Amino acid sequence: MSERYSRQERFAPIGREGQDQLSQKHVLIVGAGALGGANAEMLARAGVGKITIIDRDYIEWSNLGRQQLYTEEDAVSLRTKASAAEQRLRAINSDIEVYGMAQEFEEETAETLVEGVDFLIDGTDNFQTRFVINDVAAKLNVPWVYGGCLKSYGIVLPIFPGKTPCLHCLIDHLPQEGGTCDTVGIIGPAVQMTAAYQTAECLKFLTGHAMSKEMIYVDVWGREYSSINVSKLIDKECSSCSSKAVYPYLKKVKGLRTAMLCGRNTVQVRPSQLSILSLSELSRHLKPLTERVKGNGDLLMFHVEDVRFVVFKDGRTLIHGTEDVQEAKKLYQRYIGA
Ligand SMILES: [Zn+2]
Repeated sequence: MSERYSRQERFAPIGREGQDQLSQKHVLIVGAGALGGANAEMLARAGVGKITIIDRDYIEWSNLGRQQLYTEEDAVSLRTKASAAEQRLRAINSDIEVYGMAQEFEEETAETLVEGVDFLIDGTDNFQTRFVINDVAAKLNVPWVYGGCLKSYGIVLPIFPGKTPCLHCLIDHLPQEGGTCDTVGIIGPAVQMTAAYQTAECLKFLTGHAMSKEMIYVDVWGREYSSINVSKLIDKECSSCSSKAVYPYLKKVKGLRTAMLCGRNTVQVRPSQLSILSLSELSRHLKPLTERVKGNGDLLMFHVEDVRFVVFKDGRTLIHGTEDVQEAKKLYQRYIGA
């Protein structure tokens, strides 16, 4: 028995056999924010053989309050979450494979990314991406666990395509609340608790145990817990998981694409074709237009009046300072290109 996993192996439902199973598995975590980071750290320490973590964003000071993989140095040097997460997770466990990917999880690449993956973890903060996860998981028959947290509460739901209702089946049953982490806030304990329930379901599945059939709601501040068995809510006509599935969220979109970012007064614009952009060339092109250009090998940041642009190597650009999608598209075309 390797000392490293000895305590986990003594836990009877996992045991030595479960530990061996974990070392053979590949988990894909979508989102390397608070939830994704907490899940990733637990899974790395638990000895899951291969972890891929995908995130479209970079590290800002407002992340440090709860995003446990990151340091002040990461925020100062504008690191992408994917790159900093990969480095940190490798330092935590050098026995496993870890890959951080600085990109969006979207319909164009989702299937390729999920091919061969044993389990998916939702560490996102938006339903747009969750529905892409939901469709690709259904199409490739990969189980996953939904996680959402806000203020002091969290909601967790394991989804096993064909056996449980999917997110699309349940869309009218999910608790809806206006607000995001950026408007109504969140506390670290709510993240840790939500991630703990997600990781536990992942470990159960990977070691051959049945996942829970319940959607749970837990509030760490108000000390509330409730659960609801959703297994009867499978929609036989569901366009994502039934025999009539057409996977609506995997349909390709043409032209410049935009996404609003979780209440941050930010629009993401991405070109119709992702391709590697020369950031140094862009930087030279921008110099006559604005003096405030800085960056690293992964991204470029510049300001034009009150608007802050963050351009990633694949051409995706975060435009901070507007919620107007049309204006964001125009700004993208003016400064980055068509
Ligand atoms: Zn469904």
